[in-house]
Amino acid sequence: MADPRGFLKVRERQTQPRRPVPVRIMDWKEVYEAQEKGVLKEQAGRCMDCGIPFCHQGCPLGNLIPEWNDLMYRDKGREAIERLHATNNFPEFTGRLCPAPCEASCVLGINQPAVTIKQVEVSIIDQAFDENWVTPHAPERLTDKTIAVVGSGPAGLAVAQQLTRAGHTVAVYERDDKIGGLLRYGIPDFKMEKLQVDRRLDQMRAEGTRFRTGVEVGRDISWEQLRRRYDAVVVATGATVPRDLPIPGRDLNGVHFAMDYLVQANRAVAGEPVRNSISAEGKHVIILGGGDTGADCLGTAHRQQAASVTTLAIGQQPPAERAGHQPWPMYPTLFETASAHEEGGERTYLSSTVEFVGENGQLTGVKVAETEFVDGRRVPKAGTERVLPADLVFLALGFTGPEPAGLADQLQTEFDERSNVVRDGYYMTGTPGVFAAGDAGRGQSLIVWAIAEGRACAAAVDQWLMGSTRLPAPVAPTDRAISLL
Ligand SMILES: Cc1cc2nc3c(=O)[nH]c(=O)nc-3n(C[C@H](O)[C@H](O)[C@H](O)COP(=O)(O)OP(=O)(O)OC[C@H]3O[C@@H](n4cnc5c(N)ncnc54)[C@H](O)[C@@H]3O)c2cc1C
Ligand code: SF4
Repeated sequence: MADPRGFLKVRERQTQPRRPVPVRIMDWKEVYEAQEKGVLKEQAGRCMDCGIPFCHQGCPLGNLIPEWNDLMYRDKGREAIERLHATNNFPEFTGRLCPAPCEASCVLGINQPAVTIKQVEVSIIDQAFDENWVTPHAPERLTDKTIAVVGSGPAGLAVAQQLTRAGHTVAVYERDDKIGGLLRYGIPDFKMEKLQVDRRLDQMRAEGTRFRTGVEVGRDISWEQLRRRYDAVVVATGATVPRDLPIPGRDLNGVHFAMDYLVQANRAVAGEPVRNSISAEGKHVIILGGGDTGADCLGTAHRQQAASVTTLAIGQQPPAERAGHQPWPMYPTLFETASAHEEGGERTYLSSTVEFVGENGQLTGVKVAETEFVDGRRVPKAGTERVLPADLVFLALGFTGPEPAGLADQLQTEFDERSNVVRDGYYMTGTPGVFAAGDAGRGQSLIVWAIAEGRACAAAVDQWLMGSTRLPAPVAPTDRAISLL
């Protein structure tokens, strides 16, 4: 145990400092700064090393949180990264981007602020990279098995790293020009700079994972061909079909899916050429949808110097404190202030969008109404309509599932009622030797779940190919963990 009296001596929870808003919106660099070492130790020392560490249960990866809290408290960074890597291939992603369901289930959180678990996690991996402790783990022996992983987001990367380390020959196919999935072209640099993806890819290449970019499976090579060419195939193609809002005016110039905007912005920040650029500079922007994607559009629009940004959400404003029906250790729905929200903009709840208004094919406003509940359904309240001026609208309404084309007709893959790829308890789809992991099977979710599923799917593939496996399997496809995320 780190410090037996730590949680009594240090009652205040201190998270990492954020750069001042006026400075950070002038660039695309990460918002967060490293935490001072003394403060970090003190915070790690608040961990009570509980007999039953509920945080393990809250983390889909089953991260060994009290162990590495203790090691960081004792300045044993090298041992800490070994314990962290034992359950998490990419703590630099989760330490920056995870909503930390572990903290919601921290026992200290019952009557005090939870331990800053995510902060300790990111500090461990950042120190490990700084000290060159992150080295390749190439397999000692190779098997004669080959695996194609389709999709290079966190799920595909976790599957690939686990199976490469088990000695198989793994090729990752990605239709984009660069590897990373949503980590590369979805999530903006101010949340995680791309250096984090690139240096992990260096490690993976050195271990032997092969990457094929610019190849769309189903078009450039068929799924059947891929299945014939490899001993196993993993579908890790994400849930990329955006939810639309088919209301009058949807085809006006200026109404875009959020991902069209974010991909372009990420490319521009990376210095890549962008055609038909969508820029928020000097414009009145409305974002429909209050989740992560909406917050990423908000931070991007501020950095492009939008004249105003309003986020409209159809639901109620979540409470600031846990609601009674979401007691500890469940992951509660709370009113969150992401870094992008600190930077400005307005947030409006219970707002139904009824029409996009325009002139000569160009968007000029959004007609909204108050939302009321009729028979449990959210509907616009008659007589409350008003028009908000807008030059740009971003639809950040979530995703309806993976793209079915190719998978459905070339492999006869089945999809469930939520449009996700159907797999059995061992991540296998209806086609023998074809597995699915991450958002493609689970629906739009979180990076931590993508990594957890990727690790477990790799164990299932290894077991299927070799008859036994020593790879860990943190979660089954049906697992939802204590957090209910
Ligand atoms: C804007 C945005 C912000 C987010 N922010 C966060 C956050 O802060 N924290 C968090 O935990 N989660 C966040 N998420 C969710 C998280 O990014 C996803 O849950 C996670 O990336 C899913 O990983 P994945 O590997 O399953 O799929 P993805 O990351 O979507 O990767 C799938 C990859 O497959 C490729 N692909 C698809 N079809 C083919 C094909 N036929 N051939 C070849 N390649 C193909 C795609 O190009 C893509 O690169 C965010 C999501 C979005 C959209
Ligand atoms: S991956 Fe997420 S849930 Fe797991 S320990 Fe890290 S912050 Fe917590």
